Parts: sequence; structure tokens; C-alpha cells
Amino acid sequence: MNADPIGHILIVEDEPRLAAVLGDYLRAAGYSHDWIADGAQAMDAFRAQKPDLVLLDLMLPNRDGLDICRELRRISAVPVIMVTARAEEIDRLLGLEIGADDYVCKPFSPREVVARVHAVLRRHLHDPDTAPAMDLSIDDEACRASVRGQDLDLTQVEFRLLRTLAAAPGRVYSREQLMERLYADHRIVTDRTVDSHVKNLRRKLGELGGEDWVRSVYGVGYRFEP
Ligand code: CA
Repeated sequence: MNADPIGHILIVEDEPRLAAVLGDYLRAAGYSHDWIADGAQAMDAFRAQKPDLVLLDLMLPNRDGLDICRELRRISAVPVIMVTARAEEIDRLLGLEIGADDYVCKPFSPREVVARVHAVLRRHLHDPDTAPAMDLSIDDEACRASVRGQDLDLTQVEFRLLRTLAAAPGRVYSREQLMERLYADHRIVTDRTVDSHVKNLRRKLGELGGEDWVRSVYGVGYRFEP
């Protein structure tokens, strides 16, 4: 018998071969896991196993992943990584704000999924409710932000961008969602505008030691991860 697992993962996935490959990689990385193929059994399995993280496929027989994710969120803060067959679905899921912690798109490399599992669990352990205060402070009334007591010289848009991202560390925002929060009339701006504000914000954070706080999520958008 190997060492104790570093975490237990519940895989909800109706493609047996995919589930088996994921299981192999998770085991090799030190996790234990169980696999459920039927969406209708997911909640029972969750209650019985109390996993540290759920890998949840979107399209499942009998009950879809969206519905399962919503119920999970009502009863638990367990990290959820949503697995979808189409990249376009990720934008739609983000828009529904179902509360998944991350999204991966098929076909994926199992290695990548294991890396995401590690990352989400690590972030979860640093939950803002329990973690020590971060180095960033934001003064909403004065529209000012500082890093370790040093003021950031931000434009209004950069301030709103930082405030939006920092209000929910770890949460992934699409460019569209950021535009809605940054501009009263977001139809006049483009994805590239958001990217250029992010670039400037990163540079300014970087000058004070927060260079990697605003992370790109490939094909999706951005997240704040101090
Ligand atoms: Ca499926």
C-alpha cells in the first residue's frame, strides 16, 4: 500500500475510458478517487464520500453537470472543476455564474487536469475567509488601492478592474464579464481594450511585487490569484 492519499477526488464522467485515464493520473499524483457515470447518483456519491474536489462533466445521463453544480453550491463549498466538450460552452457557463472553480475543455491532457486539481485545491486552502489578509488593500470610497502600504497609481478603469477581480480571488472572469463591470456601455469596447487595461494593471502591480496576481486563463479570461 502506498502513502496516504493527498486528497480524494470524485470524478463524475460518463465516458469510462476518459474516467479511467483521469483516475490513473490522479492516483499517480497521490490522490484517491472514485468514479460515477450517472448524473443522478452524483449527489449521493458526494454525500457518502465527502471528496476534497469534484471533477464534473457537463453532459451526463439523467442529470446534467450544471444542475449538479448548482446543488453542490447550495450545500457545500467543495471545489468543482467543470469539464465541457466545447470551448464555447465555457463562456455560457461563466455567464450563468454557477460557481465552479475552474473549467476544462475536452479533449484535455490528463496531466493538465491534474495540474488544475492541484491549483484549485491549493487556492481553496487559501480561502480569503481563513487566509491572512493579503498584501493588497482597496479603499472603495477614495477609489484607491495600495500594495503593502504603497499606493498604486491607477486610472479609474484599472481601479474598477482590480476591484472586480480582487473581490473574488480565484474566480475566472471572461472578458465580456469584465467589460460589463468596467463600462456603463460596454458595447463600445472590445476584448482588446480589456487586455490592454489588464496589461497596464499588471505592470503597476508588478512594480510593487504583484507581477503575477492577475493570471490569464487560456481561452477564457482572467482571474486574480495573489
Ligand atoms: Ca459526458
